[in-house]
Amino acid sequence: MEISKFQKEISKIFSEIAKKPDFKEQSKEDILIRIMEEVGEVSRQVIREKYRKDKFNKANLTEEISDVIMLLNFLASKYNIDLSKECEDKIRRMREKFDLGQD
Ligand SMILES: [Mg+2]
Repeated sequence: MEISKFQKEISKIFSEIAKKPDFKEQSKEDILIRIMEEVGEVSRQVIREKYRKDKFNKANLTEEISDVIMLLNFLASKYNIDLSKECEDKIRRMREKFDLGQD
């Protein structure tokens, strides 16, 4: 799925969830707190891989990384940031910075 399509779908899902009973629209600060929680969950798996291999769970790591990406996309939407365009620009700037040539 393209980034722009993913970003729109995530925003749509969260706004549909916000309409459900017992849910509300999430503020940028709410989303930021959730991102930090999810980054903590990613960290837990990365640390487990190194120090507690018996507790490492790659499926969970995959899910937690997806949570972070999903929430970052949602936060970007709250700021009307077109992540697809920004990511393309970032790749171009990195290729220039490290003299990698353009694809
Ligand atoms: Mg999670």
